[in-house]
Amino acid sequence: MTLFDKKFFNSLKTGIAVFEIEELIEINDAAKILLKIENKSNLGPYSNSLLELLKFDEDNYSKQLTGVLGKPLTAILHINEKFKIIEISESFETKLGEASHELRRPLTNVKTLVDTLHLWGAGEDPDARKKFLGQLHTEVNRLTKLVEELLDLSRIQAGSIPLTFQQVALRPLVQESFNLLKEQAAKNQIQLVNEIPDNFILVADLDKFSHVVENLIENAIRYNRSAGKVTLRRSKEDKNSFEIEDTGLGIAADNIPYIFERFKRFNKEIPGTGLGLAIVKAIIDLHGGKISVSSEVGKGTRFSIFIPSRKIVLPVTS
Ligand code: ADP
Repeated sequence: MTLFDKKFFNSLKTGIAVFEIEELIEINDAAKILLKIENKSNLGPYSNSLLELLKFDEDNYSKQLTGVLGKPLTAILHINEKFKIIEISESFETKLGEASHELRRPLTNVKTLVDTLHLWGAGEDPDARKKFLGQLHTEVNRLTKLVEELLDLSRIQAGSIPLTFQQVALRPLVQESFNLLKEQAAKNQIQLVNEIPDNFILVADLDKFSHVVENLIENAIRYNRSAGKVTLRRSKEDKNSFEIEDTGLGIAADNIPYIFERFKRFNKEIPGTGLGLAIVKAIIDLHGGKISVSSEVGKGTRFSIFIPSRKIVLPVTS
């Protein structure tokens, strides 16, 4: 039975699971990811908690869902004559706990380095001092990046950043990102190819959209192989979409559904915060757009981006 327009249902960021008595009849993609459910016949690690919640007859009843080895989730029960609908999201405690956990690691490293320099006398030796100060510099930069990205993500997701739409020519925007990242690419002999046509114009917030393009290109460089290639082109299938393709490490099929979740990292040996793609997705969502990924391990990854057109009459800028 189809109760909803599937596309709309799956585009919702909140998890929704619809039950008839105790049978799960509809579930959207966000709920599948949160509840770790692959199909409708198995309620997964949160089954006991979900079944307990379904016993209540109080509309808007809210409860923490706990699951075997899963993070606690917040669930709100909605009741109508026929169905029980459960709205699922990550709990505030989970988000706070995750962020604190991510911040603790670089902070511990900073503390160890400062202790080594200050308390254990490594600061007395010029060579050791230079080495530890260098490491301290790297750790403080990492910490600053993490805090800045966390703030960006929370502001964007809270909707507190207004967008200023204007016409944006994509080709020069890509070229600007290439110029910023060309040294990083050259270190690994990565070729940057801009095949975006001159007439590719989209309506976007220039600042936020530049961030999307730069971030995806930077990832395509960082997760590439030596002497690899990064290509941007208009999609063949849809002339309003464009693609960023790399010849790098690729992403395993099992990891693709989680790629836009914050702090998810699949190549731990390459330093990063795990927030870049979560920010990219949040900005594209704000534009009402879509981003999708296809990838093959050892061959490369392709991100496809679509930004809907809007009516606006402004001069073209890059
Ligand atoms: P970060 O790069 O800081 O770890 P991101 O959110 O940008 O965080 O990316 C999350 C994870 O997705 C990365 O750690 C990496 O494992 C994977 N990833 C992102 N982009 C690519 C890519 N172009 N090719 C392969 N893996 C990628």
